Amino acid sequence: MKKSIALPPLALAAALCAAEPSARIPARGLVLDAPDTSFRVADFTRDPVGPKDVLIEILYSGICHSDIHAALNDGGGDPAKTFPIVPGHEIVGRVTQVGAEVASFKVGDIAGVGCFVDSCGACDQCGLGREQFCRNRDPQPNRLRDGRNFRGGYSNRVVVPERNAIHIPAGADLKRVPPLLCAGVTVWSPIHASKVKKGDKVGVAGFGGLGHMAVKYLVALGAEVTVFDVTDAKRDDALRLGAKRYVNVRGPNPWAGMEDSFDFILSTIPADYRVGDYLRLVRYDGGEMAVVGLPPGLTIGLGELMSAPHRRLYGSIVGGIREHQACMDWSLAHGVLPETVVIPATPEAVAKAYQDVIDGKVRFRYVLDLATLPQD
Ligand code: NDP
Ligand code: ZN
Ligand code: ZN
Repeated sequence: MKKSIALPPLALAAALCAAEPSARIPARGLVLDAPDTSFRVADFTRDPVGPKDVLIEILYSGICHSDIHAALNDGGGDPAKTFPIVPGHEIVGRVTQVGAEVASFKVGDIAGVGCFVDSCGACDQCGLGREQFCRNRDPQPNRLRDGRNFRGGYSNRVVVPERNAIHIPAGADLKRVPPLLCAGVTVWSPIHASKVKKGDKVGVAGFGGLGHMAVKYLVALGAEVTVFDVTDAKRDDALRLGAKRYVNVRGPNPWAGMEDSFDFILSTIPADYRVGDYLRLVRYDGGEMAVVGLPPGLTIGLGELMSAPHRRLYGSIVGGIREHQACMDWSLAHGVLPETVVIPATPEAVAKAYQDVIDGKVRFRYVLDLATLPQD
């Protein structure tokens, strides 16, 4: 009779996986062939699990407004270069295979993946924890270093370098975790960069996926929060989350009495607006405005800047890997979590969800349940 070494199943799987060089990984996902919202279910393969990579079986994946900008090719680039796409950069799943040199993950761990999946780990920016500005990767999200499109989280499994994966403790409510990997960290980063503190008077423009997380973080810091949005529909939600004031900017005289009064304003607005309208509201000499929303084609004129002098205006892109982990750890430890609505991972459900986001109907983030991805 052959001898066998008694190993617990997870350890056995890990040992096998680490020992054998792996082949390309079969995967299935929701693919979009051209600018549209009509997805189809398709099979494809992912790169093999390299020595420093982890293979993650995806459980949940969030729908960000950036997915919709990409699906509709809002940026106006050549679709032949960017499609087909599999969107999804708020990914949570279980590690099912690790490369031989992976030290910080083991099979069975829960891991998260955000926008930036292929930073080099060797350049100055990576060293500073600013992987989103890695000098050796394409500045576009969802792009691999060799220029290929990265197929994202609307799929059943993903392979990423260990250094780009985020640790998620067992026991977390995983349905609520995915938006932390984009919506959460994207607002966390400028809130901390601007050193918002207790008692500060702050504004959040655009109260959707990103905006509601900004309100939660700012309220938790003890700031006095004003929310700006384009209808009255979300007023009750804003006050429920702890905002002091809600302004429908399409109402009469929306800016009256607020000029020169805010310590910090964060704009998450995804559509056309005048940046100067908000910049004028922050304090002369030291007030700061951070812009994270990406309205396609929006520009700011010098006249607009000069009509709001001495205020500081900056943009911010997601966050580095350390910021992702800090945001994840803090949010879970303090129970400050996104409000999510779980939907099936089907082409029909995603098309409807996109329309709801465009129409302002989601409270506040749709999350795909990948267990429902159609099988043959
Ligand atoms: P959502 O659609 O969930 O939220 C946007 C919110 O802004 C909605 O409440 C919307 O209102 C409101 N809004 C629309 N127009 C205006 C306006 N003119 N003034 C005030 N509020 C307005 O989007 P997300 O939160 O997912 O994303 C927001 C933006 O941030 C997108 O452009 C996205 O691409 C970008 N983004 C940027 C990142 C970065 O790294 N910089 C990372 C992630 C996202 P209503 O619902 O009524 O339409
Ligand atoms: Zn996003
Ligand atoms: Zn780098």
